[in-house]
Amino acid sequence: MSKKPVPSKKQCPSSTGSRHGAFVRAKRKKIQNQLVLDDCKKCGAKKRRHFVCKECGWYGDKRVMDPSKKSAPRQEIEA
Ligand SMILES: [Zn+2]
Repeated sequence: MSKKPVPSKKQCPSSTGSRHGAFVRAKRKKIQNQLVLDDCKKCGAKKRRHFVCKECGWYGDKRVMDPSKKSAPRQEIEA
């Protein structure tokens, strides 16, 4: 006879999967919320990793946007 409490029924695979999925989702969210800052290779300013540099508008070897055009409408909204 075992002295440990024994579960009366085997847990179904879906409930096991949902428990493991909740763990994975929590871990993934924690990683996504981390802000990783890198130096821009073009201008040297601090920028978010895998994001376009807001100072010069470059992403890797490509010029993605013009920061002078993008920043103009935002200033109008703030003011
Ligand atoms: Zn830059």
